Amino acid sequence: MEIFIFGAGASHAASNKNIPLGADLCWDYANTCCGPIFERDNYGNILSSSIEEANKLFEPFIRFLLILGNYYPYVKKEIVKIEEANKMALQYLPPPTLAKYSGNYSDWIKEGKKYCVDEFITKIIDSNNYDDLEGIKRFIFEHIVETSNYWGYQSNNLYEKFVDKYIYGKKPEEVKVISFNFDTLLEYSKVHSKKKTFFKYHLNETFNFIDEHGFDLSNAYTIYKLHGSVHWWCCPDCQIVHINSPFLDKDVYGSFSCDKCKTSMTPMILAPREASNKLLPRLLDKAKKELEKARKIYIIGYSLPKYDKEEFTCLCENISENTEITIIDVFGENESFASKYTEIKDKYSDILKKKVNVDLGGFEKFVL
Ligand SMILES: [Zn+2]
Repeated sequence: MEIFIFGAGASHAASNKNIPLGADLCWDYANTCCGPIFERDNYGNILSSSIEEANKLFEPFIRFLLILGNYYPYVKKEIVKIEEANKMALQYLPPPTLAKYSGNYSDWIKEGKKYCVDEFITKIIDSNNYDDLEGIKRFIFEHIVETSNYWGYQSNNLYEKFVDKYIYGKKPEEVKVISFNFDTLLEYSKVHSKKKTFFKYHLNETFNFIDEHGFDLSNAYTIYKLHGSVHWWCCPDCQIVHINSPFLDKDVYGSFSCDKCKTSMTPMILAPREASNKLLPRLLDKAKKELEKARKIYIIGYSLPKYDKEEFTCLCENISENTEITIIDVFGENESFASKYTEIKDKYSDILKKKVNVDLGGFEKFVL
């Protein structure tokens, strides 16, 4: 049996770089999700309705920064500057000003990005502020859904090619997938194509979406999404996961309630170390058992961040001695092939306690 493990790098490549990498999650929202279309009157002035619309697009990002400001005083100071820059850009919108503004603005984002999402989520969990945690999860949901909708599904051909090459035609017990991603690009990549291929999650789920669309899941392939998914909505009272449509609008957050008890539901976005969540250890356990049986394991676009290290070590601790493991990754413009190769080989060999193959050709070449 073969197992494919996916990290954010795979979705990033599959969505034409719009789904954020782990380090860009939340921060990249301002660049990828706030680009308004400005309508002008006959004199070339921007309509005030357009400016309102632009502010509405920007509002979630400010909401995110305000939460972050509770934990990092530096961010609090920056919010005023960012808000001012945004207002200024909206007032004087001839293109040169906007370009200038974008440059400054990107610098602020770069500065702020020294706080990565896993780090501040850990801080929020440690402070027991569940309103803030919910606020950040909502923002992650909005970021992933927005980048999936506008660019992801349209340019998602790498996952399609992946399914064609490595999944289609095999028996479901011959190939399994483990994913750390919140987006649904992989699972729904072949739903509208001739070679229909479906995936199932093995949760205590109710199939709202899948029933409605008449999908036949008897031959579906298993995917374990260890950090949840933007379209898994959980009823806190019934502890049932409802599978929503994957084609969501970001504004739907909080607008669904449980069929059974009418309690309001939120998407299952599982933070690392989130002790309150019962689903994570259960999914981890199932995925771990699959890995013990694997003959070949491919790890694609997963950077193995330090906050995942404990979880990943636990996941892989019983992999058989004879299992062949290949890491598929890329090296960036400013990196050397040799040093990236050694870095990845050492990092994984250290955790997995065995030899690994490293392929730096990236996801795109892997599915060719
Ligand atoms: Zn319920």
